[in-house]
Amino acid sequence: MKHPHALTALILVSATMLLGACSPEQEEHPLVGTFEDAEIWAGASIWTGEPAGLRENAALVVRDGRVVFVYDLDERPLPEGIPYHDVSGKVIIPGLINAHGHVGMARGLETGAAVHSEDNVRDQLRLYAHYGITGVASLGDEPPEAFQVRDRQDPARPHYARLWLAGDVLNPDSPEAARAVVADAVHKNPDWLKIRVDDQLGRREAMPGEVYEAVIEASHDHDKPLASHMVTLEDAKGLMRAGTDLLAHSVRDRPVDQVLIDLMRERDICITPTLTREVSVFVYAERPDFFDDPFFLEAADEAVLEQLQREEVQARFRGSDADYYREALPLAKENMMRLHRAGVRVAMGTDSGPPARFQGYFEHLEMAMMVEAGMTPEEVLISATRNAAACMGLPEVGTLAPGQWADFVVLSANPLISIDNLREIDAVYLAGQAFESPYR
Ligand SMILES: [Zn+2]
Repeated sequence: MKHPHALTALILVSATMLLGACSPEQEEHPLVGTFEDAEIWAGASIWTGEPAGLRENAALVVRDGRVVFVYDLDERPLPEGIPYHDVSGKVIIPGLINAHGHVGMARGLETGAAVHSEDNVRDQLRLYAHYGITGVASLGDEPPEAFQVRDRQDPARPHYARLWLAGDVLNPDSPEAARAVVADAVHKNPDWLKIRVDDQLGRREAMPGEVYEAVIEASHDHDKPLASHMVTLEDAKGLMRAGTDLLAHSVRDRPVDQVLIDLMRERDICITPTLTREVSVFVYAERPDFFDDPFFLEAADEAVLEQLQREEVQARFRGSDADYYREALPLAKENMMRLHRAGVRVAMGTDSGPPARFQGYFEHLEMAMMVEAGMTPEEVLISATRNAAACMGLPEVGTLAPGQWADFVVLSANPLISIDNLREIDAVYLAGQAFESPYR
């Protein structure tokens, strides 16, 4: 029986109990009371994001948008007559979380005030949700409209991917200015603050240590975690010593060393490698293979693809920047694996959202690249659910533990066998409600 009505469930359960119409075993069902007003997905293999791994023939019980519990049907079947969503043969996972995206700053290849709108922000959150990304930590430079969308989103009826924001990327030029800039930024109530410390390949002055130390200290005085965009090993270490709460992107100049590993492990600080960010800097010099991928084309804008194949646009993806990041990509992957193997938590993040960094699809590309780099599919899933949420301090998401929001994806294939099976999306649920994709 599909789409059960909560009231029906209540009546059936009560009738079972009052009339004693079924076997003693069913009357004694210890969970019977907990099914009242609940919605149940039964028969799937469920990977909750907790250490238990994949639980075959399990049931997910949801009430008021939250997970009540997941339990094994082999131990005790559902009471007879109780309505449920039959998801036999499917695999349920928690909604995926992008720990480093950007929302509302671009539309297609355009950026700037002309494309800033609440509608654009919501469209992008629908795009993420279409691909199973049910939460996005947007790390900087969002328009004010993104804050309005975030603040108006009902956590019990989200309708599109949940959103957390960092606001303007801070760039003070002195320790004194740092305090003022942070005090100003916190007025918008960002979830995070963000700085960028590198010299943008020689295009500007790198942020001096005394400045980022002051920004980080000021952020913490306002109880805001701070994410740091960095490129070099020296900056990564300096930022760690200064107390940064996240390393954004990869170390791309040298192999990471034990000093950095120890600094990260000491405070359990995470990294968002954003491997697809590197790809996006050079891949459009020619027509990328994924322009033929049906999974990408589901939600792609033809006009944008056409633009990206024009000679003058392709030319922008050649040159020294493109060369630098293309050459840095293998090292970025190796460094991700060194940190991961040393016990540093990696949070799946993509830097999607700026022009030609395709939200939703790039997360799947990122996860495939993480497997290519050496992580197992399950390690990548942990990175994209439990770790992404925990690393970013996102409450009540990232696993299907009791009490969490029932944000989940129903897949028709097992992603623990192949990460590509994450593409086999049957349905996406946000707080237990089916997400109606505009692309399906
Ligand atoms: Zn970013």
